[in-house]
Amino acid sequence: MDPKAFYDLSYGVYIVSAWDNGRPTGCTANSAIQVTSSPATVLVSINKDNHTNRCIADCGHFAVSVLHEQSDPAVIGTFGFRSGKDFDKFAAVPYDVKDKMPVVRDSCAYIACKVIGTMDTPTHTVFLGEVFGAEKTGGGRPMTYAYYHNVIKGKTAKNAPTYQAETPAPAGKRVCSVCGYVYEGDFDALPDDWTCPVCGQPKSAFRKA
Ligand code: FE
Repeated sequence: MDPKAFYDLSYGVYIVSAWDNGRPTGCTANSAIQVTSSPATVLVSINKDNHTNRCIADCGHFAVSVLHEQSDPAVIGTFGFRSGKDFDKFAAVPYDVKDKMPVVRDSCAYIACKVIGTMDTPTHTVFLGEVFGAEKTGGGRPMTYAYYHNVIKGKTAKNAPTYQAETPAPAGKRVCSVCGYVYEGDFDALPDDWTCPVCGQPKSAFRKA
């Protein structure tokens, strides 16, 4: 099996959100698919180790915020490389409550769903949701997963359905120990308060490859 074949499938970059006992939480996802149009249904695939998985199961609803090419990469990092168990992600990212669901403001659209079915896989739960709200929230082109990798140089969290082992960074380069972002320039010339553009970690989180 050649895992590169999977690269020919198309994905977007989304924040899937839910309520955690009244507190908004969520995670970055690349697998969100419209399944039917009438009634409109959408599915998402969420790792069982993600706090968001249990929150969707408990509250019975989820929202998909569609990120656009100009969305702040730190949004992806905050939701993709931190755990909602011990970190209040929405305290760091502006959001609105739309159709009673938390939605990332820095997005181009959202889709709010009520869970009507689940499918269990060894690592992920597929949640099928009936859409009860959807709206364009901004302009801009929706971010594809290829754009995230090729233009933003973003990395894939280990919990993503599409995760594949990355090729190691060239020796001597500084690599974010949280998200895997590789800094290409002169690391020592960066100011002390510089943070990882993908996940927001401080300079101290970077190690030498
Ligand atoms: Fe990082």
